Amino acid sequence: MQKNITIVGAGIIGMVCANYLQRDGHKVTVIDSRGPGEGCTAGNAALLSPDAVIPPAMPGNWRKIPGWILDPLGPLAIRWNYVPRITPWLAGWLRACSADRARAVARGLRALHAPVFDAYAPLLKDAGATHLLQRSGQLYVSELNGGASGSPLTTEMREAAGVHTQLLSGAAARELEPALGENIKSALYFPNNGHTINSLRLVQMLAEHFQRSGGTVLRRNVTGFETGEHGPCSVITDGGARPVETLLIAAGAWSGRLAAQLGTSLPLEAERGYHLTLPDPGVMPRLPLIHRDFYFTTTPVQAGLRMAGTTEFAGLDAPPDYRRARMLFTHAQRMLPGLRDSGATQWMGARPSFPDGLPVIDRSPLHADVFFAFGHSHFGLTAAPVTGRLIADLVSGRKPSIDITPYQARRFS
Ligand SMILES: Cc1cc2nc3c(=O)[nH]c(=O)nc-3n(C[C@H](O)[C@H](O)[C@H](O)COP(=O)(O)OP(=O)(O)OC[C@H]3O[C@@H](n4cnc5c(N)ncnc54)[C@H](O)[C@@H]3O)c2cc1C
Repeated sequence: MQKNITIVGAGIIGMVCANYLQRDGHKVTVIDSRGPGEGCTAGNAALLSPDAVIPPAMPGNWRKIPGWILDPLGPLAIRWNYVPRITPWLAGWLRACSADRARAVARGLRALHAPVFDAYAPLLKDAGATHLLQRSGQLYVSELNGGASGSPLTTEMREAAGVHTQLLSGAAARELEPALGENIKSALYFPNNGHTINSLRLVQMLAEHFQRSGGTVLRRNVTGFETGEHGPCSVITDGGARPVETLLIAAGAWSGRLAAQLGTSLPLEAERGYHLTLPDPGVMPRLPLIHRDFYFTTTPVQAGLRMAGTTEFAGLDAPPDYRRARMLFTHAQRMLPGLRDSGATQWMGARPSFPDGLPVIDRSPLHADVFFAFGHSHFGLTAAPVTGRLIADLVSGRKPSIDITPYQARRFS
């Protein structure tokens, strides 16, 4: 049965859901205060990682937090005035750091990530955007002998998921990626991973195809909802109220506020990250690189070489601290000798993150015609197409292609 569906959020999650719902024959409207893809998706590291199964919350990570926070070049920063707000979320993150919980989260990530290239394929073919994806492989690197492979638990989790990797010496890594400096002593190669050369353009092309096929994209800020006997009956925007029948919240890091207005309180945080893009880097690695010691990435994209990473907790509304983008260059110079930063552009975006590192992909616990797709944390670009398929299954009343229990909202109740 054809439904009228309103989606709040035109990031990668909202636009992929819109395309999958439209393919099912529904009439879909997407509302966003910005252009498609201009939220967190625009500036991410552009990695597509079917083999990313290691959760952000891992046993022992908590011991590293004090050192990370005290190091001005460390991967984690918390603004002091935000400490009271972030403390309950961090407590949830610490609870997720047990080995058993991490193993369960890894299984949930694997199910969302493994089919990424196949699940994007039909959408990108229709949108004429296939050229934006590259199955290039990815290389994790470390300045420590054997450091690229991680802990015995990470190895166990990858093996359990059937992930194929190759452990390389520094010299073998330089043969594969000649741009790497001599201080890289070990590397782990993921041949099945890849990247997009332009994550913003990817969303824009999905939006253009969606509109050509009869979908509507509206540029409005959603400020609230009017609720009737059976749940929300209209969405209130800065351009007036619009009636809604079926509603999907896919508003990234802002989704927590919207879900709360619909009666469901969820522990979603803005996990702010930064990038620096070098249009003329002087040295251009062939592969996306992930530095295991400093927790950042470099990816060859259309705009140049993009360095991305870091986590900052300061809430959704605090101004960016671009020193965190600049520090990425300091780290990257160690890995890629000869790197130049002329003309560099900087960016900050908010990852929508739950303490356990899994998203919520679910029907609202309160309203039968309201659905949630947010909280994809570090992996939204990768998890988007399977999320889109799951939302299309839920909305159409089909049995989802994978077990959605790990992504249910009620895990936080
Ligand atoms: C530095 C960094 C690097 C990353 N690297 C990768 C990577 O390599 N691979 C990967 O898979 N993931 C990566 N991620 C994570 C990924 O970018 C996110 O998980 C993903 O972009 C989330 O997509 P989204 O559609 O949920 O949110 P967004 O892209 O933020 O989209 C949400 C949209 O909702 C709109 N919106 C919000 N509130 C309202 C409202 N009230 N009214 C109207 N519109 C509203 C916003 O304007 C926005 O456009 C990275 C993130 C960061 C920060």
